[in-house]
Amino acid sequence: MDLFEYQGKQLFARYGIPVSPGAPATTVAQAVEEADALGYPVVVKAQVQVGGRGKAGGIKLANDAKEARAHADAILGMDIKGHVVEVVWIEKASDIAEEYYASFTLDRGAKLHLGMLSAQGGVEIEQVASENPDAIARIHVDPVDGLSTEQCREWVESAKLNPAATDGAVEVLLSLWRAYTEGDADLVEINPLILTPDGRVHALDAKVTLDDNAVFRHPEYVEYDATQVRDARERFAHERGLQYVGLEGSVGVIANGAGLAMSTVDIVNQVGGAPANFLDIGGGANADVMAGALEVITSDPDVRSIFINIFGGITKGEEVANGIVQALDRVRIDPPIVIRLDGTNADEGRAILQPHLSDKLRMEPTMLDAARRAVALAGDGKAS
Ligand code: GDP
Ligand code: MN
Repeated sequence: MDLFEYQGKQLFARYGIPVSPGAPATTVAQAVEEADALGYPVVVKAQVQVGGRGKAGGIKLANDAKEARAHADAILGMDIKGHVVEVVWIEKASDIAEEYYASFTLDRGAKLHLGMLSAQGGVEIEQVASENPDAIARIHVDPVDGLSTEQCREWVESAKLNPAATDGAVEVLLSLWRAYTEGDADLVEINPLILTPDGRVHALDAKVTLDDNAVFRHPEYVEYDATQVRDARERFAHERGLQYVGLEGSVGVIANGAGLAMSTVDIVNQVGGAPANFLDIGGGANADVMAGALEVITSDPDVRSIFINIFGGITKGEEVANGIVQALDRVRIDPPIVIRLDGTNADEGRAILQPHLSDKLRMEPTMLDAARRAVALAGDGKAS
């Protein structure tokens, strides 16, 4: 789950990372009111989950109420790389002496956490990494040991920041480490982390990705979930408790288990088709779950065929088959459906489906056959 900048800053503040005072606003009037309350100059910042807002005109300095009004008016509703701005964050403007970059994320290859710190902040870190990789000081942190103050100080010193920033940066990074680990984040990034002319180190931007699997440990994250930007199909699926990711193609995919769902997406591609989605219905496959999944899939107008790929494990074949038959009684499905049913009690399940088979509901013996059939029915044509 990705947070907006203002939510990331609120999270940072809870861990003691210095951020500028500010407030979110959804209307021009509210933006001006907040700016007046903060005192000028303020910065008006577009809240969209995409980088490079500054360059796109989504970040503006306002010296008085008139400018705040003009900027809020221009930025609210602005389209930044396909993201429409619905919220602006108004914050007290900072004086900047230097801009740095700091982040923690997981290095899966190394099986360790990775901290990155650079004296070249304020620009995309990918650009620094490709043009001047030595300008990024990296540190690997063992999750069992954690980050000690000594390690952190050594790391900061190796980044060659302005010496005036060293103590402040150590403090911010130790707090950032806590926000990352205790806050169950997959990524925390501050770009820019600034040094002010009077020697304070301060977060001017915040990019945070929280681990969805840890949300249950943080009741306060419910409010972030409410503001998640999901496409209409994903919202529909989320309301039904289904793991759904919208894709661009025309073959709707339903599978049980994330691994099988991913393999199903892959095999559709492999035989020349294009999946419309990833959808994992999880362990059970009763009529409710199946009907919900079919509703979500068919709410996508691009779907021209549906591939249901089930491997019975703890969920038995006959339960799945009954779930499908009952679901088809309840929801009207226009695109043709191709089923592959295997695993525990597959024969019993197939026997239940047999009398219901037609042009609109087909069964294939293998995953590959079913993928080819579904792709052919979607009219993608490349299947052999
Ligand atoms: P991004 O472009 O989406 O990464 O947005 P940022 O929040 O990182 O802002 C982009 C740039 O705007 C920063 O690197 C700063 O140079 C500038 N900026 C943002 N806030 C302030 C501020 O309070 N004062 C000043 N002087 N510049 C700011
Ligand atoms: Mn930034």
